[in-house]
Amino acid sequence: MKKLFAIALLLGMLLTACQSGDEEQGSTKKEAASQQQKEEKKEITKDEIDLNTKPNEAGQIMILMYHNISTPEAEWVRTPENFRKDLQALYDQGYLPISLTDYVNGNITAPAGKSPYVLTFDDGRENNFNYLEDGSINPDSAVGIIMEFAEKYDDFEPRATFFVNGTGRFGPKEEVQKKFDFLVENGMEVGNHTINHPNMKTLDASGVQREIGGQKAYLEESFSKPYNINTLALPFGSRPDKSLYNYLETGSYEGKDYKNIAILNVGWDPNPSPYHTDFDPLAIHRVRASETNVDDVGIYDWIEILKNHPKRRFVSDGAANIVTVPQGLEENVKAPEGKELLVY
Ligand SMILES: [Zn+2]
Repeated sequence: MKKLFAIALLLGMLLTACQSGDEEQGSTKKEAASQQQKEEKKEITKDEIDLNTKPNEAGQIMILMYHNISTPEAEWVRTPENFRKDLQALYDQGYLPISLTDYVNGNITAPAGKSPYVLTFDDGRENNFNYLEDGSINPDSAVGIIMEFAEKYDDFEPRATFFVNGTGRFGPKEEVQKKFDFLVENGMEVGNHTINHPNMKTLDASGVQREIGGQKAYLEESFSKPYNINTLALPFGSRPDKSLYNYLETGSYEGKDYKNIAILNVGWDPNPSPYHTDFDPLAIHRVRASETNVDDVGIYDWIEILKNHPKRRFVSDGAANIVTVPQGLEENVKAPEGKELLVY
């Protein structure tokens, strides 16, 4: 029954995702000074794990889905104020962002006692990242707000993935390379959102490969240094016929192969731990980062649910090389090669 409800909900969301209009804003640029260099190696022994922080690496992780950061607030628009409020609420509840790549690779380096989450932005809106006339990053853009937060809190690293579709996104074309470079230099990521943002259901094998492979090629050419586009957010969360699912992961277009390590749906709930046997990086659920029409499964609903049900929430042990889970939750957890399992 719950599943049926969830499917109905998803269908409703599929129809409405990504419908909001474009908007242009004045733009400029700035070299953001803030260099995050907190890449300490988190290799410790089992004895050094602080069990008082109640690590639970069997728990779920929220992959948050944003679209526009702008005004006024609407179903697919989060205001700058509300985005700041979201980051603060998460931070106050012990959440810190990690990269999508680290999540799917099970490379969780969040400090002991903290819960990782992943920020994603679809559609490559200019309001995600633009410049003021003086050249500084618009402090009310998504990137401006993330960088501001990282400057304010030492343990908050700027981590987010921007899923860009088409060739005319992310503001003026001449600024795209500079923006992409900035994102990568600061630990953020760019992902694939297809060329034409189609309903994938309508495509055949060559169509799927053109949409993914073509966009990958365009995006990769837009960086000044080599960059591998290997994550995909499905437009409207739509999928082609099941027989073509393999082309979402691997394929070829104009002689160039692609392989995606993460495929993101739209969604309504947090995703399993990367160490959980249910974890499927090729069908990642996302939580809507909104308070409008979220049907009790938006970001604040999940913050509350995970607060009240600690067994469901991923809490890091602070060690990248150890997977720590409370007794009773180990059954569905598998430590990947090179990592040790600790049950307490
Ligand atoms: Zn979209």
